[in-house]
Amino acid sequence: MNLELSSYVGLWVGGTLAVMASLGLHWAVVDSVRRRRRKASLYRCEQCGRVYEDERNVPLSACPACGTLNETIQR
Ligand SMILES: [Zn+2]
Repeated sequence: MNLELSSYVGLWVGGTLAVMASLGLHWAVVDSVRRRRRKASLYRCEQCGRVYEDERNVPLSACPACGTLNETIQR
């Protein structure tokens, strides 16, 4: 009886740990894929010529140096 109970608890703990480990691995993979997909847009300021990136991927981004709104340029 005692042996059965302890093996049941052991299975439960082991199973829980395995589920948590696989979930952690899953999220690590999802996170790395997301990071690889996210590519910052590149902008060149028409006012001061500064080239800068914006990870929000918006069509217009304000220049960090002078505040002018600029369109994305292709890499
Ligand atoms: Zn500028």
